[in-house]
Amino acid sequence: MIWAPLLRLQEALGPEAELVVVGGAVRDELLGRPHADWDLATRLLPQAVMEKARAAGLKVIPTGLQHGTVTVILEAHPVEVTTFRRDGDYLDGRRPESVRLGVDLAEDLSRRDFTMNAMALPVGGGDLVDPFGGRADLAAGLIRAVGDPLRRFAEDGLRSLRACRFAAQLGFEVEAATLAAIPFRLDVARKVAMERVFTELDKLLRGPVAHRGMILLADCGLLDLWLPELRPMVGCEQNHHHRHDVWNHTLEVIRLVPAESSLRWAALLHDAGKPGTRIKSSGTEAQFHGHEERSLALADLLLERLKASHALRKGVLALIRHHGTHPAAAWGDAACRRFLRRLAEDGLELGRWAAFRLADQRGKGLERAAREMEHEAIVARLTALAAEAPPLSVQNLALDGAALMNLAGRPGGPWLGELQRQLLEAVLEDPAANTPETLHQLAVSLLQRR
Ligand code: ATP
Ligand code: MG
Repeated sequence: MIWAPLLRLQEALGPEAELVVVGGAVRDELLGRPHADWDLATRLLPQAVMEKARAAGLKVIPTGLQHGTVTVILEAHPVEVTTFRRDGDYLDGRRPESVRLGVDLAEDLSRRDFTMNAMALPVGGGDLVDPFGGRADLAAGLIRAVGDPLRRFAEDGLRSLRACRFAAQLGFEVEAATLAAIPFRLDVARKVAMERVFTELDKLLRGPVAHRGMILLADCGLLDLWLPELRPMVGCEQNHHHRHDVWNHTLEVIRLVPAESSLRWAALLHDAGKPGTRIKSSGTEAQFHGHEERSLALADLLLERLKASHALRKGVLALIRHHGTHPAAAWGDAACRRFLRRLAEDGLELGRWAAFRLADQRGKGLERAAREMEHEAIVARLTALAAEAPPLSVQNLALDGAALMNLAGRPGGPWLGELQRQLLEAVLEDPAANTPETLHQLAVSLLQRR
């Protein structure tokens, strides 16, 4: 259960170090869940950890001495070793004002957020240290605050969001008193830095039961702090194409789409523009004209506010932009190639578009079999067309810009881009036209017509 190289560190530090594995690694080991890092804690002060580890020939980096943390490199893996500590008062709802080193393990564990995260496993062997019943809560699938949840959520606003994130990752319930405390501490949660909020929301969305994490956020009021634009989706009724209201459809798409960041964010945001575009007069069905555009604008705003990376924003916006396009069996090959070009222009792979569309269709909750056969057929056709590697951009034209300038006897300018677009149209219509000779002839006649 203990990663063997940790024993080498244990040997270097000696038994008085009381070296233990703590936090997420203990939780994940007990769950049999893979984890990226091993966090360690020790009674030794950081200076002593550095000296002893270095004396044993280990590489050590003083990464956070003020918090009692040094990083030891074991077989090319960085491992954080933190001195047992107690957090000072939390005055800003974000971080303790100070930390006090040199306390005992029990006190170190008591500052941790949830019982399942407040266990320690001695590296040198010995029983699990579990003062708050974390193991029993793990077995019962419960996320329970260490101590009084009202007080713990008042110290640090991130914890309530972490509770929802762990629920989405582990499929656990948030214990009743812990959950009940969240709405009373929204004013503290509001103060958390956006980068930290984004990291947690992203982990939540990538969780195996992300839709349940989102339901928790909506139920306890956290949704309104960071994603207030999404609230109008709740209860927004649709039309005969849908079994669910916009929010429940959104939850379904989150559930059905593969657990990858941009697909999940796109699922969350793809219909956010629906409530604002909803038109319904008596006796008619609700309509949502232009909702893709509105969803795009909202998604862009929201992801910027959350400080999401440019790459993620781009990926999410591309999925939203194309989620409302429904290639049909009646489309000609040229129309299909134009669609492939639009995806390519937005850097969206066909497979990702198809996965998103399938989830979006299934998430409507109706006429599954017929819709899915239609979907499979059109995706197969688009895939086959894409496999022919047709020219989809002006860069793929058999005559490049220099050749066209030469032909026209003119320096580049707006005319060139226009001509290239016309040539591309022609080869999208008929890829066989993409030869230097044919494009030459075509360019001559297009130039003459100007
Ligand atoms: P992950 O799998 O995402 O890494 P984790 O539980 O390991 O989950 P970390 O942020 O790596 O989360 O934190 C390591 C440990 O530090 C936690 O298990 C917990 O014991 C403690 N911890 C982290 N954040 C907080 C917090 N906001 N309040 C109290 N304790 C915390
Ligand atoms: Mg961790």
